[in-house]
Amino acid sequence: MDDGREATTRTEGETARCWHAEPADRVAEQLGSGGQGLDVEEAAARLESHGPNELRPPERAGPVVRFLRHFHNVLIYILIAAAAGTALLGHWVDTGVILAVVLINTLIGFFQEGKAERALDAIRQMLSPQAVVVRGGERREVDAAQIVPGDVVFLQAGDKVPADLRLFNAKNLRIDEAVLTGESVPVEKGTEAVDAAADLGDRRGMAYSGTLVTFGRGLGVVVATGTETEVGRISQMLGEVDSLQTPLIRQTEQFGRWLAAIIVVVAAFTFAFGYWVRSYPLDEMFLAAVSLAVSTIPEGLPAILTIALAIGVQKMARRNAIIRRLPAVETLGSVSTICSDKTGTLTRNEMTVATLVSRQRRVRVDGVGYAPHGGFCEGHEEVFPDRDPVFHQALLCALLCNDAEHFERDGEWRLQGDPTEGSLVVAARKAGYDPSAETERRPRLDVIPFESDHKYMATLHSDHHGWQGIFLKGSPERLLELCTHEQTADGPQPLDRGWWETAMDDVAARGERLLALAMQEVDPHQQELTYEQVEGGGFTLLGLVGIIDPPREEAIAAVARAQRAGIRVKMITGDHLATARAIGQQLGIGQAEAVSGHEIDAMDGPTLQETVRRVDIFARTTPEHKLRLVQALQADGGICAMTGDGVNDAPALKRADVGVAMGNKGTEAAKEASEMVLADDNFASITHAVEEGRAVYDNIRKAILHMLPTNAGQSLTIMMAILMGLALPLTPVQVLWVNMVTSVTLAMALAFEPGEPGVMERPPRDPNAPLLSGFMLWRIPFVALLLWLGTFGHFVWMEEVVGASDELARTVAINTLVAGQAFYLLNLRLIYDPIWRGWALFRSRAMWIAIGVLILLQLAFTYAPVMHTLFGTTPIGPEDWARILLFGLAVFVIVELEKAVVRRLPGRQPASAATTG
Ligand code: ATP
Repeated sequence: MDDGREATTRTEGETARCWHAEPADRVAEQLGSGGQGLDVEEAAARLESHGPNELRPPERAGPVVRFLRHFHNVLIYILIAAAAGTALLGHWVDTGVILAVVLINTLIGFFQEGKAERALDAIRQMLSPQAVVVRGGERREVDAAQIVPGDVVFLQAGDKVPADLRLFNAKNLRIDEAVLTGESVPVEKGTEAVDAAADLGDRRGMAYSGTLVTFGRGLGVVVATGTETEVGRISQMLGEVDSLQTPLIRQTEQFGRWLAAIIVVVAAFTFAFGYWVRSYPLDEMFLAAVSLAVSTIPEGLPAILTIALAIGVQKMARRNAIIRRLPAVETLGSVSTICSDKTGTLTRNEMTVATLVSRQRRVRVDGVGYAPHGGFCEGHEEVFPDRDPVFHQALLCALLCNDAEHFERDGEWRLQGDPTEGSLVVAARKAGYDPSAETERRPRLDVIPFESDHKYMATLHSDHHGWQGIFLKGSPERLLELCTHEQTADGPQPLDRGWWETAMDDVAARGERLLALAMQEVDPHQQELTYEQVEGGGFTLLGLVGIIDPPREEAIAAVARAQRAGIRVKMITGDHLATARAIGQQLGIGQAEAVSGHEIDAMDGPTLQETVRRVDIFARTTPEHKLRLVQALQADGGICAMTGDGVNDAPALKRADVGVAMGNKGTEAAKEASEMVLADDNFASITHAVEEGRAVYDNIRKAILHMLPTNAGQSLTIMMAILMGLALPLTPVQVLWVNMVTSVTLAMALAFEPGEPGVMERPPRDPNAPLLSGFMLWRIPFVALLLWLGTFGHFVWMEEVVGASDELARTVAINTLVAGQAFYLLNLRLIYDPIWRGWALFRSRAMWIAIGVLILLQLAFTYAPVMHTLFGTTPIGPEDWARILLFGLAVFVIVELEKAVVRRLPGRQPASAATTG
């Protein structure tokens, strides 16, 4: 491979070369790739010298900058001001503790953010694009990162171009180059060289990395990879860094800033009141004001929210739903309609031909799966299709107008390619046809590949003896439009359309997928097949094929689950109406009513909006209909998830609230337009993702419900003490201990919580409902009041009744507050439902671990001498603990009672509570 190496070094030095101005065959020759592509060793050697075909990940700020960024926060500024104040007053221990807490807070934020980002990166890696290349004379699918200059790459509609290519074959190839040129209309591609000075958008013979193939097919040789490509050179195109911010997190951060502003005012007011009205000493009042400010701020909240989201994303990935954009996690929780494709998502995509119909006969095909075993029967009589002239032509058409490969390996029959086409090869084999022998007898000259938009595939063949013809297969409705005749044992007859329509309905009513087969003889010198020629019609219909594709078991269960969760499931399919209806029935989707793409075309916006409210099955649709359906659903106020795989699905996927692309059969274009990708193409994974989405949203609400009452309870305690002229029940450093250590430890457990038992038995959340709903605005002050009563009451009782020292009374007060927090955490396992429902209390490991850790922390806080110095605590006795635990238990019982009352309020049944509340 000396040639190749020479080419390699040459390309390295000549990245800016005008490949577009050179003839394609010369380029291929120079890069050392003949018709066979590179051989495997050469490809490996070039990978070594050129490096992987990847763009450098977008520049991330260095660790120091990222660490410092965590200090840029109003709350931290307040803490630093507090530290400065205490230092001025000579309270060095307080200064040290406050600064330590600031440091710990930023460190936690820094590490957790790093962890969450790494987790998301790992998930994104799961989506690395693939490309089809020729290596060593064989077509194979490789990771796009493995592509090297000189590789020959196949392109087809829906692909993202994996590297810069010089095209040497293009059939109706159109590419959307908007990422490079800003031009949103796809450009027509060819193979010819253009002027060296041509603009990027005018270089017809080139396909550039990162652009999207929207139509047709092509073949090109790689001229540049990775950072050498055009897109690699334009650095701002490297794709924006997905930040960890979601609308919800932004909302809470904004809330935090407002809170901080209010706090500063209230603290200033309290300071003035205490100093001038109550005549507290200046330094004590300053500390009180600092305590107040620090106590009200939920310092750990944003970190907990980010962690809850990141954990949700990881859990979804484990269940085959890969999130591409973080806000989708929140949206998933409020999805009210899921629109799903049928084939492969709701059904198994394991196709078996079950029926063959010609104008004169209808036969049943036996045998399931890919093994070519099984016979053909008409009633009870065995039939040999190869001896029937019409079936013979039909099976030839099925076999030759086909790109699937069917082969035996390790004693097992396998399929490569489209399963619909594969089933036809299996059927032809059952009838005794040998695919390779037939292909040799009638080689293919040209092809128009299948696309959902035109719903047919056509191939041009010649038989070495002067015969030449087009085989056509596709959806029967489409083929009926293109046929003028039907084949019979006595030769072609004029088409009896009505007869065929009845036959189609019969087969489809059993839930079989329909295909029609047709042919046309053509002029023996024709070399190329055009859309115009096929769509000009004049074909002879050979027969119909009925294919079974059973529903997935797990999809049946998942549809039922989604429906119980108040989510409408709609099936959108390209299949026949009757087939769709029959499969819908097996899956439990829709009543008998189904609407076809033609009918949708005839509807205006309001009519369609009314129709989607009623109908769940849409058949004979094209991808364009999906977009209209999404728009109609959204106009009706729905939150809509939509699945898709093809390049033409992209607009609907983009428009949907949650676009869901198929990971296996989906095109890059579809994945790019989606929020979520299904690793297993399975409908059940969508419901799992919705379930996790709901759980994440619940957990976020729980974290807020847990943190805010603690803050409010502490502030109340301090304010009341000042108003009543008492000693401070909590010092600033003690408040920090509660906010930064106990609150965060406990609330962290909520981020790991599994979903509530009934999470999929209640209707979807109203996306417009504010985060702090009516119920939360009640629950937060309610619990705050409970915590205040316990903490403040216990403190006052210790000081006034027992006559304890400030240190002892404070230590008891803090432990009371923490016990209240811990027991309230248990209540929060379920927001509204009684905690014993579904043994929920014992199902949460994270919660019990957090409480265990908390007990150790509080024991250290109370008994470790170093803590005494730092936090001014002192050991407390067993009877103090008894009262503390009693209070905790009381909080637990009272909140459970509150839940019982709330559940009984009109319009707040347990199932609907979580959505409206
Ligand atoms: P989904 O239900 O997921 O929308 P679908 O396969 O039903 O998928 P399309 O892929 O748009 O929808 O197919 C529409 C129709 O086109 C099929 O019902 C079938 O008649 C025909 N068809 C499908 N695959 C091929 C193919 N490879 N060649 C020719 N015709 C095909």
